[in-house]
Amino acid sequence: MSSAVATPPVSFASLPFEEKLDRFARLAVHVGLNLQAGQELVISASTEMMPLVRRITEHAYKAGALLVTTLYSDDEAALARFRFAADESFDHAPQWLADGMAAAFRGGAARLALAGANPALLAGQDPAKVSRANIAASKANKPAMELITRHAINWSVLASATPAWAKLVFPDTPADEAVAKLWDAIFTASRATGDDPVADWKAHSANLHQRVALLNEKRFHALRFHSADGATDLTVGLADDHLWAGGGGASGNGVFCNPNIPTEECFTTPHKDRVDGVVQASKPLSHQGTLIENIRCRFAGGRIVEATASAGEDVLNRLIGTDEGAARLGEVALVPHSSPISQSGLLFWSTLFDENAASHIALGQAYATCLIDGETMDAEALAAKGANSSLIHVDWMIGSPTMNVDGVDQNGSSEPLMRAGDWV
Ligand code: ZN
Ligand code: ZN
Repeated sequence: MSSAVATPPVSFASLPFEEKLDRFARLAVHVGLNLQAGQELVISASTEMMPLVRRITEHAYKAGALLVTTLYSDDEAALARFRFAADESFDHAPQWLADGMAAAFRGGAARLALAGANPALLAGQDPAKVSRANIAASKANKPAMELITRHAINWSVLASATPAWAKLVFPDTPADEAVAKLWDAIFTASRATGDDPVADWKAHSANLHQRVALLNEKRFHALRFHSADGATDLTVGLADDHLWAGGGGASGNGVFCNPNIPTEECFTTPHKDRVDGVVQASKPLSHQGTLIENIRCRFAGGRIVEATASAGEDVLNRLIGTDEGAARLGEVALVPHSSPISQSGLLFWSTLFDENAASHIALGQAYATCLIDGETMDAEALAAKGANSSLIHVDWMIGSPTMNVDGVDQNGSSEPLMRAGDWV
């Protein structure tokens, strides 16, 4: 016991906003990325996020960054393309830039993406053009994305509030107040408000690692999701040699990082050919500037055979049609209903947050790191284990306070994992 009289720490809520933002930037550099001295950093953000980017850049250099490069996108410029660009523009992407990103990662650069650009930016645009532009971008980015999904480098995604996003989350609140409320929600959900966020994140990660270890011991053959109302009854087969993951982890370059801030999920690789049944989304999905609501899908033999939505159905079906793997699952994740983000009761219209409020599945690309020795396997070996491959990876939420989840073993006997949305 120490006899020293400590000055009580100032509560986060009472700090001036600039100081809150500065602490959050420090969290990005030291917890999200764990940026190493001598490392390059590539940031992507929208122009509205400059105040946070500048502070992150400052903390990155203080941590010894060799060079920080930020690629800014701009909503108005993105819309100008949809209004005025020639038709062939929508099958085009800057391959040279994507190649440069991949080269940077191979050269050891760390990667930070800031989420929070207007989730509904492209909602009024031609879904065919939106889809073509997304496919072109995904194709161009595939080599760079592969380094991320293989966790070759330390990377992280965290959020910055923007006015358009805040308006969607708090539609009845005046603009300035909505942005302030969204920032507070981001800080809280990101576990940035404690006196020692670095220690808080260590403890949080350790909790998730413990849950992951338990799930890995079980060697389940499948998970069965069944909701009380019967809208969801889905059996998700797990890939052979699947590994559960969650919390921070060491990347291929040996650096321990937290790829998502926040994160509350334990996730693994489903078997691409062994998903059967019906599933109903429990939250709307915000996808590349459009909103897809009330998704219902039927799976057979791993593949979606029927998909409907009350809004954005066209976008959903184009998404599923991106390639063969886009109609199959690449991730299944368990998140308790008691998670702080879920308890906030907010719909963030952002996968980064909403996927950490509910159990979810993802269409498309699987994470090679969620298989034993997956990082060293080629595409063929990964497919043989049941890991899906696609240009897309899109998470959507299926967990709810009425969702039950069972773990099913090789001979079909099952044990309850979650009841009414929470761990048993
Ligand atoms: Zn997930
Ligand atoms: Zn995911």
